[in-house]
Amino acid sequence: MDNRTIDPSTLRITDMRFCDIDGAPKRCTLLKLYTNQGLVGYGEVRDASSKTYALMLKSRILGENPCDVDRIFHKIKQFGGPSRQGGGVSGIEIALWDLAGKAWGVPVWQLLGGKYRDRIRVYCDTDVDGKDNSGHAMGLALKRRMEMGFTFLKMDLGIGLLMDVPGALCAPLGFLDEMKQYASHILNVQGGSVTPDMVKHQRSYQIVTTSHPNTGIQITEKGLDYLEDYLKEVREVIGYEIPLAVDHFGHVQLESCIRFCRRMEKYNLAWVEDLTPWMYTEQYQRLRCATAIPVCTGEDIYLKEGFEPLIKGGGVSVIHPDILTCGGALELKKIADMADENGVAVAVHMAESPVGCLAAIHTAAAMHNVLAAEYHSVEVPWWKDMVHLVGEKPIMENGYYNVPDGPGLGIESLNEELLAEHINPNIPGMWEPTDEWNREFSNDRIWS
Ligand SMILES: [Mg+2]
Repeated sequence: MDNRTIDPSTLRITDMRFCDIDGAPKRCTLLKLYTNQGLVGYGEVRDASSKTYALMLKSRILGENPCDVDRIFHKIKQFGGPSRQGGGVSGIEIALWDLAGKAWGVPVWQLLGGKYRDRIRVYCDTDVDGKDNSGHAMGLALKRRMEMGFTFLKMDLGIGLLMDVPGALCAPLGFLDEMKQYASHILNVQGGSVTPDMVKHQRSYQIVTTSHPNTGIQITEKGLDYLEDYLKEVREVIGYEIPLAVDHFGHVQLESCIRFCRRMEKYNLAWVEDLTPWMYTEQYQRLRCATAIPVCTGEDIYLKEGFEPLIKGGGVSVIHPDILTCGGALELKKIADMADENGVAVAVHMAESPVGCLAAIHTAAAMHNVLAAEYHSVEVPWWKDMVHLVGEKPIMENGYYNVPDGPGLGIESLNEELLAEHINPNIPGMWEPTDEWNREFSNDRIWS
């Protein structure tokens, strides 16, 4: 829409609707905010989350001027939380920026203070190819990504590789068998660490949410040998000159994490990710003091306040906030500023659709420093086609995201036909009315 027909001062939010797609590679919940002037803003709830987190906020934002982004954010931030719970607040914040940018005719990066760069280095996750339990095969998969132009890599390295290796893991007898039976999805995490099955299988939920100190899982010397050989094989294929981060180590006790890190130091890892739950600040401080590998966490942390103890307490070398969990674009900018002031690197986590990705790109463009932003969909050929962008620049080329110049997020329109082909069969419907949420309300003040 031509923004010259828009009067920002009288713009008002009139509706919020959703479209749940699957396989991009995860479950993505796209969000539209409608207005009284025909302008539509795009947002997205965090991957593998639930639109309920956004729906419960609808009555709180109806009738508001979407250009008052920070004021609305402060009104709704009390209803967010860690990980997927942050998806509603964050997804709406993104749609507000998209509307504000379109209404005033400027890109989101401009509203955040202007840009430091025209493109963002991509770190490319790899969790599909190379899953034949050989480091050589994983190395070849990573090598193919390097040939595609990617300059920064990530892969999984953890107990998922050791479950069928005799003598590699030590745990209370029977626990690993139960994990394999009820929670195999956390060992091979392509679908995310949450599945609808968990609702039906409470035992699965119980296992998945057993914290690292309480699983009792330790890695034996044989297990460490296996993982070291695997990583050595990977490095033999891709060389030692490209950064390689590792993720999904598993719910293992901290002391085994430290032994793992010490073994892997000579393989130049870019970082080890989420070795223990993010809220255990002292464990992160201990881990960081115990190894020379950069320590990273953050994809499940909500708000700047959540990052502060880790950043200021020296618990992390790298943070990887997700814009659809941390509170949205302005909050991510504030988090990145705090990290920057304390010498902590920022690698933006992203496993969502191009909508969430573009929000991350705009914000990363407006950060003083950014190491890289994630791309998780190399195996999803239709990923980039979900949106039609303003202008000619592709969203990504040669291992970098392009920073768009169009107003708002820079999206001309969503590719509705393509989205229709990938609707999540468990959550059917596209942009259905949500009127039943128009009057949901509580006494929202958080003091008396
Ligand atoms: Mg991760």
